[in-house]
Amino acid sequence: MERKLATIRRIVEVKEIVGADAIEAVRVDGWWVVVKKGEFPINHAAVYLEVDSWVPTSIAPFLTKSGNTPKEYEGLKGERLRTVKLRGQLSQGLLLPLGILPVRDYSDGEDVTETLGILKWERPLSPQLYGQAKGNFPNFLRKTDQERVQNIGNMLENYVGQEFEVTIKLDGSSCTIFVNNENEGVCSRNLELKQNEDNAFWRIALEYDIHKKIRAYGKNVAVQGELIAPNIQGNYEKVNKPEFYVFDVFDIDRQEYMLPKERQEFCKLLSIPHVPVVDKAFTMIADVDKLLDMAEGEGMNKGVKREGLVFKHNTSGFSFKAISNSYLLKEK
Ligand code: AMP
Ligand code: MN
Repeated sequence: MERKLATIRRIVEVKEIVGADAIEAVRVDGWWVVVKKGEFPINHAAVYLEVDSWVPTSIAPFLTKSGNTPKEYEGLKGERLRTVKLRGQLSQGLLLPLGILPVRDYSDGEDVTETLGILKWERPLSPQLYGQAKGNFPNFLRKTDQERVQNIGNMLENYVGQEFEVTIKLDGSSCTIFVNNENEGVCSRNLELKQNEDNAFWRIALEYDIHKKIRAYGKNVAVQGELIAPNIQGNYEKVNKPEFYVFDVFDIDRQEYMLPKERQEFCKLLSIPHVPVVDKAFTMIADVDKLLDMAEGEGMNKGVKREGLVFKHNTSGFSFKAISNSYLLKEK
């Protein structure tokens, strides 16, 4: 499921920014956005666009700094929404009046991503890393993704007091390695890749002997993990050779993800590295700001601040990510 990037939301809080008289901060769900004073009063509905939305110039020309020409992504002129600080206030995403939508009734939470032509901006991967596509992402697997904690604040109530696995979110590229009866494959985030030693994804699968290990285990499964390497994502994790860390194991026959404990044991049994677990049984709280504070901290390697944390419910498939705001502010 593709993420909803543009949705109808209500302003739940308005807060003054000290020393600023033309702007103020408003809150929608767990997000703070800086807006023109009085433009988005409390309880009003508006269109909220999340960070990493690629916003077409046709609906928000003001995003392009005057004198600049709009950038282009996937053939669409526009700009990417980033995390910024304005007068010391964190601002994430963009609020637009309902008036930019075609006239009809809209309900809270409604997804208007397509209506507005918003794309999800993703950092491009160099072609030599990708290798050649064999085809689409197989339909017997699931693409990896995590919802942002700012969007699920109201669901947290249902999980208070329950146990979650907390892992470090690594900043590399999603890699899926599977065995399904006579088929064996390797996929990047969105594609299945042709077998080719030049390709970083296949190379790591072969180096770690993953297909062979899954064969020996004797079930149809897909291991999904983060490939980090000197030439991926600007080597944020500071490694000196390609490395792979599993964060999910999908049981293809059951069409279900293993729960955290089963996955950790699976990785131990097969000697496949697992993403660092910072807590096996964190007691959930319904406090988005506290969870975001937790996201700040050391990463896997010395001198690297983590991108964030991923929280997975120990007894169901519910999970989400909390990205460090200091990481987002520094991101290029
Ligand atoms: P994002 O990178 O913001 O698109 O967030 C989702 C992605 O985080 C997933 O698709 C994975 O590739 C990646 N990821 C990195 N570390 C983890 C982890 N510990 N648990 C789950 N996903 C992770
Ligand atoms: Mn990522």
